[in-house]
Amino acid sequence: MPATAAPKAARFSVPDATGHFGPYGGIFVPETLMAALEELERVYAEVRTDPAFQKELRRHLAVFAGRPTPLYLAERLTAHCGGAKIYLKREDLLHTGAHKINNAIGQALLALRMGKKRVIAETGAGQHGVATASVCAKFGLECVVYMGAVDMERQALNVFRMRLMGAEVRSVDAGQKTLKEAINEAMRDWVTNVRTTHYILGTAYGAKPYPEMVRDFHKVIGAEAKEQILALEGRLPDELVACVGGGSNAMGLFFEFLDEPSVRMTGVEAGGRGIARGDHAARFAGGKLGVLQGCKTYILQDPDGQIELTHSVSAGLDYAAVGPEHAYYRDKGRIDYAYATDDEVLDAFQLCSRLEGIIPALESTHALVHGMKRARALGPKGVVIVNLSGRGDKDVQQVAKLIGEKL
Ligand SMILES: *Cc1c(COP(=O)(O)O)cnc(C)c1O
Repeated sequence: MPATAAPKAARFSVPDATGHFGPYGGIFVPETLMAALEELERVYAEVRTDPAFQKELRRHLAVFAGRPTPLYLAERLTAHCGGAKIYLKREDLLHTGAHKINNAIGQALLALRMGKKRVIAETGAGQHGVATASVCAKFGLECVVYMGAVDMERQALNVFRMRLMGAEVRSVDAGQKTLKEAINEAMRDWVTNVRTTHYILGTAYGAKPYPEMVRDFHKVIGAEAKEQILALEGRLPDELVACVGGGSNAMGLFFEFLDEPSVRMTGVEAGGRGIARGDHAARFAGGKLGVLQGCKTYILQDPDGQIELTHSVSAGLDYAAVGPEHAYYRDKGRIDYAYATDDEVLDAFQLCSRLEGIIPALESTHALVHGMKRARALGPKGVVIVNLSGRGDKDVQQVAKLIGEKL
């Protein structure tokens, strides 16, 4: 049986012309945004095959962001688990501390190309806001970041970082005062200022063309990892593991491996305090089909369709909806999904710090928890790559509090 034929075809047939990944994705926005989305789509289609743009993008990724990132054999974690080799893809070493800068640079270049001098963004924990503020400073763009009032208080340090780099951070006081409300506010701003403004969305989510475009800006992660693992091991890995918030770091790692049927892939969601209503953000463990913020996908919602409260120890995974491409490949059986709980994450956060001298982001630690389980199951002949999407410096105060350590 030609095992490679089906995935290869599937990989290039989504999204379709209407932005759908099977039944997921699409465009669910106010009429006033259609022109801006169409312009973005047109310009993005141009630059995809424009060698000059791609060369400039690669240059900024190298000298500003710090690519390529190493693929690092975590020897002591591997020994601790007693199974497969555990490699870490070190996105935590990138400028501003996470993978998000890959996409921020790409979209800032698009804003320049469209002649838009003003950029807006939304942020939850502040990581995407910091990445956006950084690229706007670099390219001389005006920057406004929307952030929920509760998040601004929890992430005061990131708010100050953004302001240092010249961004205006606007507090959002509606609803739960967190990420979902910040996105609503950013969309409202975009409707009003669409002619001068580009919206740098921070994950592989939203209306066409964002999910595909953001994934494309991150697929360098998997392209590098593939080359690196072939050089190091002379073969492909048995499994890739990445955490899934909106889904950008995971799709970035997975994409170049989709047509390699021997490579298993697992996305890890936030299991929070366990799978009960309001206690987690594992959309595939409790979500239903719905529409939220531009996109049709799996969403945590109550029987009336109201968006459910979510919880995770990591702000970057704490969102009620998941990127449409993930929903599609889950249906196809190409990507598996699991979750890690807050308690497992707190243990692994300390273990990785102690054994490897690397403090991982709480988001990335979800992937690490599952990667270690898989390493044990695969045994010593196996090879697992875990995407270390970001560094944990931003999380140390919160972890100290949770484990009862006085600073
Ligand atoms: C934002 C963030 C995530 C979650 O976003 P994805 O789009 O799912 O990748 C994961 N890890 C880190 C470090 C982040 O900052």
